[in-house]
Amino acid sequence: MTDNTRSKKNKAPRTKAPEQSPEVRRKNFKEVSLGYSPAMAQLEASRCIQCKKPKCVIGCPVRVAIPDFIKQIADGNFIEAAQIIKESNALPAVTGRVCPQEDQCEKHCVIGIKGEPLAIGKLERFVADYERLHREVKPLQIAPPTGKKIALIGAGPAGLAAAGDLAKWGHEVVIFEALHKPGGVLFYGIPEFRLPKEILEAELDYLKRLGIEIKVNYVIGKIKTLDELMHEDGFDAIFIGTGAGLPYFLGIPGENLNGVYSANEFLTRINLMHAWEFPDFDTPVHPHKNFIVIGGGNTALDAARTALRLPTTEKVTLLYRRTREEMPARLEEIEHGEAEGIEFEYLANPVAIQGSNGWVSEIVCQKMQLGEADSSNRRRPYPVEGSEFSITADAVIIALGSGSNPLLAKSDSDLKTDSHGHIELADPDINATSRTGVFAGGDIVTGAATVISAMGAGKKAAQGIHNYVMSL
Ligand SMILES: Cc1cc2nc3c(=O)[nH]c(=O)nc-3n(C[C@H](O)[C@H](O)[C@H](O)COP(=O)(O)OP(=O)(O)OC[C@H]3O[C@@H](n4cnc5c(N)ncnc54)[C@H](O)[C@@H]3O)c2cc1C
Ligand code: SF4
Repeated sequence: MTDNTRSKKNKAPRTKAPEQSPEVRRKNFKEVSLGYSPAMAQLEASRCIQCKKPKCVIGCPVRVAIPDFIKQIADGNFIEAAQIIKESNALPAVTGRVCPQEDQCEKHCVIGIKGEPLAIGKLERFVADYERLHREVKPLQIAPPTGKKIALIGAGPAGLAAAGDLAKWGHEVVIFEALHKPGGVLFYGIPEFRLPKEILEAELDYLKRLGIEIKVNYVIGKIKTLDELMHEDGFDAIFIGTGAGLPYFLGIPGENLNGVYSANEFLTRINLMHAWEFPDFDTPVHPHKNFIVIGGGNTALDAARTALRLPTTEKVTLLYRRTREEMPARLEEIEHGEAEGIEFEYLANPVAIQGSNGWVSEIVCQKMQLGEADSSNRRRPYPVEGSEFSITADAVIIALGSGSNPLLAKSDSDLKTDSHGHIELADPDINATSRTGVFAGGDIVTGAATVISAMGAGKKAAQGIHNYVMSL
């Protein structure tokens, strides 16, 4: 490639993927982004300059061979592209949709220095969707059976990624999942308009084709203990990927009023139990008009945009105690929320929820101002004296993050946890816990993080488990 061609590619604009218009999508649950056509994907892929030392790969927690799959797209070999991704990522249609690529692979993309980075996530999504529709990708090679049995607890991204690798290496793999559907947050948290459930189901089918068994409605710590899995059921090793699904609350007056939800409960009722499709499904949410959502992360945005789509909703206001600049949610989600008509009330902190006849009627807030940066490198908010104000609302959704699921660790005194209830790793290089033969990864170790970091941890633990069981 000449310097001239290289610099033309650098400057070509990023190919935009079509989306449902905000006016239409704000009242439906269909996917917002419509994805690339083959021609758009090839055009975007042709912007990649095929760096000899590709920085994008360093930014990817599961180290997808990004330039290789991009080259296949540019050449029109979409199935080959899908095959390359699936070598290291078992859920590409998911990660192509929900990964914060702007902080990972795309942040490191070289053409982003002078122009816009390559749309790696949109391209990953394109090939995964193409492969799903054409069903041509060859099943991965599975090693001959090793005779080793591995139990995985939790079917979220960490458990699923670990399971995929362990099955490929010839082990017998059983996942135990507490809920009636596998997927973890991918199923019960992230809404349909960002991650359609049929796409997740298709990726799960792919894993099942590797021979993985998933037992649902199976709470480890209640139905069976770790000891029973190892000593009675004959599992040689265990992976724990039970996530961080325990919601935090504000601890302010009025949190027990009717109409107050944790974001987890609200999203689970809508996503997992189809509450919005009442009476076809018998789990209605009360028909509210005016929602307040408290928080600034992806969960808050998901809850706000979900609330907006419910038939009786007239207004959704998101309260955040810092400014737009400090919001931890993905920029794309903030922009989508703004375009759909969510109202953002920045520098506002709730101090009480008030009610009438047991139901929420308004929320009392205090204005905040920003001071110095704190340990998270975000400016710390301080209340402004005498600045209280109220907003009328009949529903409040609290989306302040969540802590580790405590049940399993509590049921096993040999498993070391820290003061937040996260499982401590005795050897972080292989994600081994304080119990021999027991490994862990994902949000249960790190606290709430990202899908791809949970998958990366699952894969790292899978390697540790493989070495451990093969040495027995
Ligand atoms: C609403 C929401 C939106 C998000 N959006 C994004 C996003 O856009 N991009 C992104 O990268 N990240 C996002 N995240 C974060 C991301 O989803 C998590 O970091 C990721 O799912 C963690 O994966 P995990 O496998 O560790 O845990 P989880 O996904 O929480 O899965 C854990 C699984 O373990 C099961 N389990 C728990 N206890 C037991 C037990 N005792 N026995 C059996 N099973 C058990 C649970 O039912 C669950 O299925 C979001 C999170 C939320 C809540
Ligand atoms: S850094 Fe960007 S341009 Fe370079 S190989 Fe990766 S995707 Fe292509």
